[in-house]
Formats: sequence, structure tokens, C-alpha cells
Amino acid sequence: MDELRYQVDLLSAMNQRLKNDEKMYRLICDTSSNAFLYVNFVENDVRTLANWEFFFPEVEIKDMKDLAKLYSQVEDKYVLPLRDLLFLEKTELNADSGIIKLKDGRTWVECESAILYNEEGYATDKVIRFKDISKFKNQNEELTYMAYYDVLTGLYNRNYFVRLLTDYVRKAEEENVIVAVMFVDIDDFRKINDGLGLIVGDEVVQQFGQFLSCFQSENILVSHFNADIYCIAIYNPGGNRSIEHIYKAIHERVKTPFTLSTGQELLISASAGVAEYPEAAKTTLDLINCAEIVMFKAKKLGKDMIQYFDAPILKEFLQNVSIENKLKEAVFSQNFTMNFQPQYYIHEKKMRGMEALIRWRDNDGKMISPSVFIPIAEKNGTIVPMGMWVIEESIKTFSAWKKKYDCKAILSLNISAIQYMQNEFVDNILAIIKKYDLNPEELELEITESVLIENFKEITEKMTILRDYGVRISLDDFGTGYSSLSYLMGLPIDTLKIDKSFIDTSITDENTKVIMESIIVMAKKLGFETIAEGVETKEQFDYLEEIGCECIQGYLLGKPMPKEEMEQLLVSQEG
Ligand code: C2E
Ligand code: CA
Ligand code: CA
Repeated sequence: MDELRYQVDLLSAMNQRLKNDEKMYRLICDTSSNAFLYVNFVENDVRTLANWEFFFPEVEIKDMKDLAKLYSQVEDKYVLPLRDLLFLEKTELNADSGIIKLKDGRTWVECESAILYNEEGYATDKVIRFKDISKFKNQNEELTYMAYYDVLTGLYNRNYFVRLLTDYVRKAEEENVIVAVMFVDIDDFRKINDGLGLIVGDEVVQQFGQFLSCFQSENILVSHFNADIYCIAIYNPGGNRSIEHIYKAIHERVKTPFTLSTGQELLISASAGVAEYPEAAKTTLDLINCAEIVMFKAKKLGKDMIQYFDAPILKEFLQNVSIENKLKEAVFSQNFTMNFQPQYYIHEKKMRGMEALIRWRDNDGKMISPSVFIPIAEKNGTIVPMGMWVIEESIKTFSAWKKKYDCKAILSLNISAIQYMQNEFVDNILAIIKKYDLNPEELELEITESVLIENFKEITEKMTILRDYGVRISLDDFGTGYSSLSYLMGLPIDTLKIDKSFIDTSITDENTKVIMESIIVMAKKLGFETIAEGVETKEQFDYLEEIGCECIQGYLLGKPMPKEEMEQLLVSQEG
């Protein structure tokens, strides 16, 4: 009896334990975000557990046959891997087949299985776990996309383009063909960004990029580098796949405005530079650089055009690079001198003043023209310390002459826009005037029209402050830029310097004569003093006198000269 009782107690204890086990496993299952599928091959028993609803809400599985219903739940290419997963009697699946994608297009599922085998080695039970890995997978896809493509335009990004272009170049070397690289840059993009805002800028970049993407094909790569810069590579160009063809299409396209999402219409133009393998360069990065260099040339020549790389351009570029390096050294060791060119009142032939012009002899003893190195100095910022040196050195020299010879003259200094843009510019000028005891009226600052226009507000504000102190302002190279007299009215200037090119042509060209004469009349009406620049002949002198130009400057009456010579001139003028 005791024995029976013992057996019953034991059974009930085991039963309780089994119930607890079942509760525990159910709890584990229910709290899992995964789904499980249990298959018993021997008894044709199939069960779905845990978060099944999340993965396959419409699929009810009752027996082995129902498993086929799962095929309709995954994207087509995952049907076979899924079948293997469900029925193959092994656990290892290759890496790819362990991951499937559901028909909803966004859910990625990782599948893992465990199998039990009987003594003969046949599979009896199988459990498959389904785990949602969409978040990870999508992030991964996004990262992959970002590694190759530019998010704004959907075009190849710079890095990937360089990689693909490197493949082109390698292949071209083997097959002995050409690879053309075209650098494309939207003209005056800064004005769009500054004037209409970054969002409009982005939209223009996007729309233009979308247009360029139509050239993308088996042998053409289209990429977006950054901002408004695109780069296109063509393998073995020719016919429909030629640079000319593509540039013509771009040129045609920009004739019609881009319509922005605001409804606003915007006309743009673009400049392009082209370099070809193997002629321009043999490596990918050099090719891109060469194409960029000629793109800048297109900008310089007036934008909205295409330029092709050739040897002289490379020479000029290399020269500029070497000048740039030497320039940094020269600024550091202040390797410059100042020349002074006299200016005269046309009637009395009396000296009006002098323009200070910088001179640079490099270490090899070669004179380098300021027309060459000033633009480079403006680009790399060395113009700021160099300009300060020019201002201080010229004023110091001029002030000493003033005291020594009691001369009444004006000192003209050339000032770059970049100097004007410095916060301390006005204070610096006023401090130096004070330091060298100059009358502000004795100092004249020259600025060219074109640079003035670019930062009109800020520069004219500073000009006005200086002018209120009595410093004279003159507009240099008048006639080469906008040449519109009407906008001069609002400018805080005292003097117009009429550019040499005008003086040269007005003698021979009737039209220029008419313009020249109306400039003089108008300038007088507006109260500006006029100085003609680059007067080289007596004929020019007489003509200028006849039409009422007030002052002249030029080789005819005096070339730019070192300070010793200028001093001699001042001595001879004395009394
Ligand atoms: P710019 O201000 O128009 O200066 C006049 C230029 O014409 C000077 O060239 C001068 O030597 C030259 N010139 C004067 N008379 C004649 C003439 O009758 N015939 C010919 N053919 N040329 C004449 P330079 O000294 O080579 O200067 C070139 C430009 O470099 C200047 O043009 C000016 O824009 C810039 N520059 C010169 N010195 C400085 C400076 O200290 N600072 C800045 N920012 N720019 C400077
Ligand atoms: Ca000047
Ligand atoms: Ca000038």
C-alpha cells in the first residue's frame, strides 16, 4: 500500500514539475519578440509559438502541409531559401539563406534552427527561430548607400566616382582608349545661395543633378562632388557619348529655367572643364585636377562655357603654384619694394600726386608683375599682410617727403576688396594716418569696380566712414567693368580713374570716343575728378585735354619709379 502511495506521490510531484516547466517555457516564449516554429517530422506535428502574429499574422499553420503557405509571405527570391529552411534536415544554412525578406518590403528576418536526431541519425524534431533584424539591416543599407551615393542628388559621390574612374583608367590603359573627365560647376552659385537661401541652392543642385543623371550609362559616370560641383567621366568617348554632345545638351537645358517647388523660376548657367586620359594626365586624381583647373579658366574667361585642357594651361598653372609658394616666403621676409608713379593736372602740368605700386623681385632676381601675383595673393590671403605692408611703407615714405619738401600731393594706394573686408581695416588706416601725421585728404584709396560690386554693402559702408574722415576714394579701372554711370551716383567716391583700354581705343574708334566724352561730361556733373590712366602718347594727351579730362597718369609723363627717383622728381618740382 505504501508502495502505491509512494508511486502516486511521485507521479503527482513529476506532474507538478512538468506543469511548472511548461509554464516557464510558455512565459519565456510569450516575452520573446521572436517567433518559433516547431516541427515534429515523425508525428507530422507543427506548432507556432511566441510572437508569430508579428511575422505572419495571416498564416495559420496546423500541419506540415500548411508550411507551404509561408512561401507567399516572403519576397520571391527568398522562397527557395525558405523552403530549404523549413524542410532540410540540417541546421547549417549558408549565411545568405539564413536571412529572408518579407513581402511587406521592409521586414528583414533572421532564421536560425535547431534539430534533434534519433539513434539512426534521422531528424525527428526541428525548431526554427524568426528574429526581426530590419532595423539593423536598413541602417546597414543606408550606410552602404551613403558610402557610394550622394544623398542630395542620388548621383555617385566623390569617393565612389574616384574608385570607378580608377577602374576606367586601368581598363583604358589595357585597351588603349581615351577617358574624358568633365568638371561641371554652376555659375554664380554663391549668389543663389546668398541671395535666395540654402534651401533654394539645394534644390537647384538637386534638379541640375537630376538632369545630369540622364547621361549616366554603361560607359558614363555622373557624380556630385559637393555644393555645385559635378564630375562626369566617359570611357572611350565618341558620337552620342562625346563631351561635345553632353556639353551641348547641358547648354541647351540651361536655356530654359528650372522651376523650384515654390513655383519660382530660375535661370542658371554652368562652366565646364575637360581633361582626357592619357593626354592631360595618367592618374585619376591628376585627371580630375586638370579638369578642375580648366573649369576655373572657363570661369575666368566669362563663365557659361567649356574649356579643354592643354599644355600651356598646365604650364601657367604650375607657374602659379610656384609663384604662390614663393609669395608666401616673400611676404614673410617682406621681400617687396614700392614704386611711385606721378599723376599730373592736365592744364598746369603740375603734379597732382602719385600712385604707389608694389614691386617684387623673386630670389632668382626675376621681376614678377603685380598683375600676376596680386590675384594669387588675393586668393590665398597673403594680400592682407602684404597690403598692410604696402600701406605702412608707402605712407611712411610719403610722410617723410612731405616734411622734407613741403609738397602738396596726394598718395594713392591700391586696396583689394579682401583688405576692405577685414574687420580692423578702417581702424588700421586711421591709426596709420595718425602715426605718420598725414592729413586724411592727402590719402586716396583706389578700389576696382568689379570687386566693389561683389561686396557692395560692406565695402561702401567702410568707404563712407573713411570718407567722412576726409580720406579720398577713387574708382580704379573704370570702363572695364559695369561701366554704368548711373550706379556711380550712390557711391562714396571722389575720383574716377578711366582705364587704359579706353584711352587706347578712343583715339582710333569713334564709338569709344563718344562714350569717353560722355563719361567726362557725366563725371563732371556728378562732381567726380577724372584721371586718365596709361597715357603714352602726345596725341592721347591732347585729345584728353580737349575733352576736359582733368588729370593724367602714364608713361608719357612718368613711369612708376623707385623711391630715390621719385625723390629727385619732388626736388625738381620744389618751389
Ligand atoms: P593699376 O592700379 O591699374 O595700376 C596701373 C598699372 O598700369 C601699373 O601696372 C602701371 O605700371 C601701369 N601703367 C601706368 N602707366 C602706363 C602706361 O602709360 N602704359 C602702360 N602700358 N602701363 C602703364 P603695375 O604696376 O604692373 O600694376 C598692375 C596692377 O597691379 C595695378 O593696376 C593694380 O591693380 C595692382 N597693384 C599694383 N600694386 C598694388 C598694391 O600695392 N596693392 C594692390 N592691391 N594692388 C596693386
Ligand atoms: Ca590703381
Ligand atoms: Ca587702373
